[in-house]
Amino acid sequence: MTFPDFSRLSATALAAKVDGGNVSPLDSINASLARAREAGAGRESLNLILWSNEQLARRDAASLAEGMNRAGKGGRLAGIPIAVKDNLATLGLPTTCASKILAGYVSPYEATAVARLREEGAIVVAKTNMDEFAMGSSTENSAYGPARNPIDLRRVPGGSSGGSAGAVAAGIVPLALGSETGGSVRQPAAFCGVVGVKPTYGRVSRFGLVAFASSLDQIGPIARNVDDAALALEIISGVDPNDSTCSSRKVDTYRDEFLPLATSAEPLDGMTIGVPEEYFPEMLDPGIRALCERSIDLLKSLGAKVVDVKMPNTALAIPVYYIIAPAEASSNLARFDGVRYGARAETAALRDMYAETRSKGFGDEVTRRILLGTYVLSAGYYDAYYRKAQSVRGLITRDFRDAFGRGIDALFTPTTPTTAFAIGALTDPYEMYMSDIFTVTANLAGVPAMSLPIGRVGGLPVGGQIIASHFCESTMFRVAYALEAALGGEAHQ
Ligand code: GLN
Repeated sequence: MTFPDFSRLSATALAAKVDGGNVSPLDSINASLARAREAGAGRESLNLILWSNEQLARRDAASLAEGMNRAGKGGRLAGIPIAVKDNLATLGLPTTCASKILAGYVSPYEATAVARLREEGAIVVAKTNMDEFAMGSSTENSAYGPARNPIDLRRVPGGSSGGSAGAVAAGIVPLALGSETGGSVRQPAAFCGVVGVKPTYGRVSRFGLVAFASSLDQIGPIARNVDDAALALEIISGVDPNDSTCSSRKVDTYRDEFLPLATSAEPLDGMTIGVPEEYFPEMLDPGIRALCERSIDLLKSLGAKVVDVKMPNTALAIPVYYIIAPAEASSNLARFDGVRYGARAETAALRDMYAETRSKGFGDEVTRRILLGTYVLSAGYYDAYYRKAQSVRGLITRDFRDAFGRGIDALFTPTTPTTAFAIGALTDPYEMYMSDIFTVTANLAGVPAMSLPIGRVGGLPVGGQIIASHFCESTMFRVAYALEAALGGEAHQ
């Protein structure tokens, strides 16, 4: 059977068609499922999707159609197929974090962010591949094999939300959810040529997100354009009694602020955008540098004042992140002991059962992080590593506060130092960690940041990053929306 092709439509455009009765929810879902099957078929499988339940998705589509008949309208995401990273709890589909230790685990409840998208009419069609427990930058650390970049099958889609970014880039879904601890939404979005957003820490409930490093983790949307990403963030943001770290601040209506600017000649008039020199080091790919310079020129032509800014503690972000994140991970992952969830080793003695379950269940990178984290938290080393890292984290946050305190509205940087690398190319964990050099800073400081496509180098997508002050997502979206329009269609595939 052939299905209509909705793969180039934005989520807002497709939802308008469904809501207006021009496309049925079932047709929309069937088209997405067909594309997912195509992308998963054969030896060249993109391996972006871990779990899918076609029957359940069709049943959801039928009940949405029924509800629409009764109410006369669907939600803001009526009939939109969505893909969800496999570390977010969903009903009726496994949630395994791409780890053997959670093989077969199905959550009895769903993540708040997923529930909120579904309340607006979205339908979950797939759980996506990822680095095990979100630890990695390439989706190669999955117990279910590496995912491929739909733009170039020999290359990684980035990580750890590589399956979600790839599913959007491959046209399987217009909207996906990923999670960020240190760049895991923005980096794969940049590698796959799509838009990815990391909200302010506390903007989106983490309820139902399997914890990696609780002081850094946030859920974020991945979409084909800025407008869809802003809509998704509006929907998933806001207070949740199930997550005490989630802010009760009112959620801004981002789209109401930037959509009217579409007709303005200078939509960024009155804004100051900072360009931190530390994000343009010598090792930066020259093609990426050139595209960033072009974007900076465009920002000026849109009315923004562009100024140089210093963020002197940027170089400390990777070492600080790789102490704090593993420390929190070693504590969070202690709960996976074979007693309550997933796989259990069949060994008579209790201690041996714990040891064997964990040795067999966790992959190499997760094991490395647990060992590292346990070490930096242990008596005698805590002050030298963990406590010190926390105080340097304060310095990194101060860099941002200083910049935004001096009248800078947003920062512009590259999202990644390179374009998507080949599968298997980075074998040294340290080299892999360095791909997060421009993204971990925003997680450490808790500020919102996003990546949008700004062009291609050698056929591969490049992401530009916009960072704003705490809870200033509307400023970030305003800059991104104007830049996206100025870049025209050329930055998008
Ligand atoms: N690549 C980083 C890491 O491996 C960030 C991962 C993430 O944001 N989840 O920890």
